[in-house]
Amino acid sequence: MKDFIYTGTQSRVIFGSGTLAELPAEAERLGARRILVLTTPQQREQGDALVELLDGRAVGSFDQATMHTPVEITNRAISVASERDVDATVAIGGGSTIGLGKALSLHANLPQIAIPTTYAGSEMTPYLGQSEGGRKTTLRDDRVRPKTVIYDVDLTLSLPVQMSIVSGLNAVAHAMEALYARDGNPVISLMAEEGIRALGQALPALKHDSSSLEGRSDALYGAWLCSTCLSAAGMSLHHKLCHAIGGAYNLPHAETHSIILPHAAAYNASATPDAMARIARALGRTDADGAAALATLTSSIGAPSALRDFGMPEAGIREIARLTVENPYWNPRPIDEVSIRALIARAWSGNPPDATAYT
Ligand code: NAD
Repeated sequence: MKDFIYTGTQSRVIFGSGTLAELPAEAERLGARRILVLTTPQQREQGDALVELLDGRAVGSFDQATMHTPVEITNRAISVASERDVDATVAIGGGSTIGLGKALSLHANLPQIAIPTTYAGSEMTPYLGQSEGGRKTTLRDDRVRPKTVIYDVDLTLSLPVQMSIVSGLNAVAHAMEALYARDGNPVISLMAEEGIRALGQALPALKHDSSSLEGRSDALYGAWLCSTCLSAAGMSLHHKLCHAIGGAYNLPHAETHSIILPHAAAYNASATPDAMARIARALGRTDADGAAALATLTSSIGAPSALRDFGMPEAGIREIARLTVENPYWNPRPIDEVSIRALIARAWSGNPPDATAYT
């Protein structure tokens, strides 16, 4: 075993069915008396219901959370928070809404209770992505971590099946990269393997029946584990490619992750045999071919496969390869522009991953 450093997570986690009922008690625990509830426009009604549930502890809701946390939206929310003398936020939604709560923690010193309703996994991490003038930057700061995370399986029942699939694969990507991260550790590897196992069972089940409470529960449990992995171990080629593509062409976050996942796995497989064996085991394969297991999973559940279907221009293949190599994240296998271009070209056109094409 190699040497390692392990830092425990600092958020309180409440997981189950019907756990939303714990929200008033959790607000009391934090001493919050003037809460601003955060949502996207699509989840406004859920926000209004939380204001009622908080029974006098909420001063209202702010329903403009947007993908990639645009700075102008954050500034608008800060003005509302300051006018209403807010002392905490409750974010109900996916990574976009929790991202806004994180921005308010950082810029307005407001503690957050996060109630995730997708599998994206922002809630456990110290990362905050923000966009301004078409540019996205990501920072790492422990102050942005939510104080409490309430996972209520019931709230995920309304997540459309295709969104569930891409969001779940977004989570799997966090675990995959944690398994081969330079700063990984044995505890996080256990969580990563278990997270992939749970999602590997849940996503096909949800594809078949998106109202399955067992499938929903497994998926959210897996998402929590994968989110914890992202918080504890570094990101590599997969996340670099997704950040570059999302930032340059504003492609949808979860869809981009699910398209890139099998390609990044195939690219890194030869340099990460232990990680691939764990992924294969988690996904029930008898051999150690984790990259093949991920390719089978993504295609069998009908995950999107072509970046061009989401508006990435063909010229982006060259551009993203350049950006990836110019300012790389650490990666277990060395990267070069020609190989990365070949990888992106396959992901752009929807061709299956092929490790031999990247050499
Ligand atoms: P999202 O938060 O943008 O949600 C997508 C849409 O689904 C929204 O309209 C939302 O209101 C809706 N929705 C969410 N839950 C729903 C439910 N249960 N039922 C019906 N509709 C629901 O999407 P996302 O993929 O969760 O998050 C993407 C964002 O999160 C990106 O900005 C990404 O950068 C960020 N993110 C950050 C981290 C981090 O660690 N900082 C990690 C993952 C993602």
